[in-house]
Amino acid sequence: AKDLGKNNYQFYEPNMKDRISQRLALEHSIRRGLEQGEFVIYYQPLLDLSTGKIVGIEALIRWNHPRKGLISPAEFIPVAEETGLIIPLGEWILRSACKRNKVWQDNGYPPMRMAVNLSARQFQQQKLVKKVARILEETGLDPRWLELEITESIAMKDVEFTSKMLFELQKMGITIAIDDFGTGYSSLSYLKRLPIDILKIDRSFIRDIISDPDDASIVKTIIILAHNLKMKVTAEGVETQEQLNYLRQQGCDEIQGYLFSKPLPGEEIEALLSSSSLY
Ligand code: C2E
Ligand code: CA
Ligand code: CA
Ligand code: CA
Repeated sequence: AKDLGKNNYQFYEPNMKDRISQRLALEHSIRRGLEQGEFVIYYQPLLDLSTGKIVGIEALIRWNHPRKGLISPAEFIPVAEETGLIIPLGEWILRSACKRNKVWQDNGYPPMRMAVNLSARQFQQQKLVKKVARILEETGLDPRWLELEITESIAMKDVEFTSKMLFELQKMGITIAIDDFGTGYSSLSYLKRLPIDILKIDRSFIRDIISDPDDASIVKTIIILAHNLKMKVTAEGVETQEQLNYLRQQGCDEIQGYLFSKPLPGEEIEALLSSSSLY
């Protein structure tokens, strides 16, 4: 082995060095991107299966990079999360999404919920409730038109803390959704301890519901479970009419997916807001 000198950084191998400098570069450019206004929110409709109407919109972040073009959240959210940049970024997303929803309402579009994803680090902030309250006040959005989504794994990290936070948010009138439900390898006991309004069934269960009887039973069972616990169910990633029919037959409440619309920039989604419907 090479002599690594007195600091003896024996794990400091070249590929790790590359990774670290790559990460630093990414961190730097996320920070710059935030300052330069390179982040954009795309919007994807949530549809009520009984009426076929849009009842919500999920805000999904993209990075419009000056050289690389549109970058997916999977590529920068984890680094933003590790470096803490998710705090200013997440706050910008929440504020922009609330503002946009208020503008739509003021312009006469039918009112709908704006669903915003919260990352682990954002959710762990002691000040989160205050920050959310301030953003609602600033933007003038009624809390009933805001939905906050946290993943099952975030919710499970510290159920006591989660419960305290969610109760406060729900008391304000905000809708609480558990995202990616079924993927968190967790016990189900947390469901009765948390004030959850909506379970969002992860796309991985929806994908094969038509061809895989096991997935079909899982989805069917989640819907029954949720309804017994007085929660609603949203199915993510609905791409085909067959999937839609199955979900409707099982009493699923809402769907989201490419079948109706991909996430779109604000100006494009507006065209769908007033008239568009599933049926
Ligand atoms: P998610 O919260 O589970 O969001 C749903 C993802 O599924 C979105 O991917 C959406 O574009 C995609 N999707 C929706 N319908 C379909 C479909 O029919 N087929 C397929 N194949 N995909 C569909 P996206 O926008 O790439 O976001 C990926 C993840 O990044 C999100 O998963 C969420 O975990 C994270 N993310 C996105 N925006 C934000 C944000 O503003 N804040 C935080 N903390 N995370 C975000
Ligand atoms: Ca989500
Ligand atoms: Ca999800
Ligand atoms: Ca998902």
